[in-house]
Amino acid sequence: MQAEIISIGTELLLGEIVDTNSAWIAQRLTTIGLNLYHVATVGDNLQRITGIMRAALERSDVVITTGGLGPTVDDMTREAVAAATDRELVMDEELWQEIVRYFASRRFTMTENNRKQGYIPAGALIIHNPVGTAPAFAVEHKGHLIISLPGVPHEMRYLMENEVLPLLRARFGLKGVIRSRILHTCGIGESAIDDRIGDLMHLSNPTVGTAAHPGQTDVRVAARADTEEEALALIEPVEQAIRARLGEYIFGVDQETIGGAVLKLLADRGLRLAVVDHVTRGDLTQRLAAQTPEGLAFAGALVLPNRDAFAQVLRLPAELLQEQDFPRVEVAEAAARSVCQVYGADLGLAVVGPTNSGPADTSDAAAAVVPVSPTHFSLATAEGALCTRSAQGRSGPSGRGWLIHLALDMVRRHLLGLPIA
Ligand code: ATP
Ligand code: MG
Repeated sequence: MQAEIISIGTELLLGEIVDTNSAWIAQRLTTIGLNLYHVATVGDNLQRITGIMRAALERSDVVITTGGLGPTVDDMTREAVAAATDRELVMDEELWQEIVRYFASRRFTMTENNRKQGYIPAGALIIHNPVGTAPAFAVEHKGHLIISLPGVPHEMRYLMENEVLPLLRARFGLKGVIRSRILHTCGIGESAIDDRIGDLMHLSNPTVGTAAHPGQTDVRVAARADTEEEALALIEPVEQAIRARLGEYIFGVDQETIGGAVLKLLADRGLRLAVVDHVTRGDLTQRLAAQTPEGLAFAGALVLPNRDAFAQVLRLPAELLQEQDFPRVEVAEAAARSVCQVYGADLGLAVVGPTNSGPADTSDAAAAVVPVSPTHFSLATAEGALCTRSAQGRSGPSGRGWLIHLALDMVRRHLLGLPIA
């Protein structure tokens, strides 16, 4: 079974909005075992929309469109579907009354062009939309199916989840499910992971693949089966094999984050962590500011912009803060101890480096050409301070992502009694 997505809207082509709908639909189609072969974007032009729909209906079993179902002149999806499937547009009185009631119940004012939303291609199956005014519909054409959904993301998602996925399962007799488990690692690169689990990447069910992010590499295990239980049973032994080989580098699964993992470890041990951030502009703090019971393990953070702040807020001695050799490891160590006292915490983490000096919007591309000295990390504990530094200078948004992971992984490894690089 082949599927195809068409996202409709000139603003998508202009780059004014990003096509998140297609990515979301793509993920949902995977879960019911439909293979996605094409994703197209087209502007608000009747001829071009119709043309791309015809081509899609030729080659794909199911075509899903988003956008262009509103009442305005530039919303032409319903006209295009009618043209591409050789039908008339017809007024559906029942649908129209439903739209009238929707407006009345919310005291919205209707305009003449709203009437347009009562029209659908003749013979289309109406997909009722309780969360908005734009109705969706499905049309069968020569054994192929085209389904048109609104562009507004929350409406599209609601209809996809509650109406379209069940409809596709029934229509194409799709019984299988795909389930995946994502193992998050830190402190080990993608190629090193490949080295350890490369043989598992040749499996066909479940499949194993990696995805690298700044400071974090994910390993995804995905299985296809008739039921969720069977899929999970296929994943289980492969997950265990990966855990046996990557062990200490895995900090969490699925929705878990490095910040959440650290908070949980702290909470389990009844410890509280305070932070001094001179490098990540508060991003590090955000990773720890969780609204959960574990969040109480985060004692507080100081985001210090410059050397003066270290003197004023943390009262570090002037001789540590000489411009010519700032930042240095001794500053990180003293700051970690000091912030620990300020917040009455058990552990103090300091991240002190050079990158805060760049302009706020430094992009990765701009950052890549600016050499920066390493960032220093220090973790003050009851037994003394542990120190490390980044192997090379990192700056820009992805550089900050790396530094955050290095910092939090240092805390994680300390709490687990693992060696710190
Ligand atoms: P409406 O009745 O609101 O006009 P519609 O079906 O006509 O619904 P559009 O006008 O195409 O939808 O889009 C409405 C809004 O939904 C857009 O302004 C945009 O913010 C968002 N949107 C549309 N398409 C996408 C997309 N592919 N990805 C993400 N957001 C989208
Ligand atoms: Mg619209």
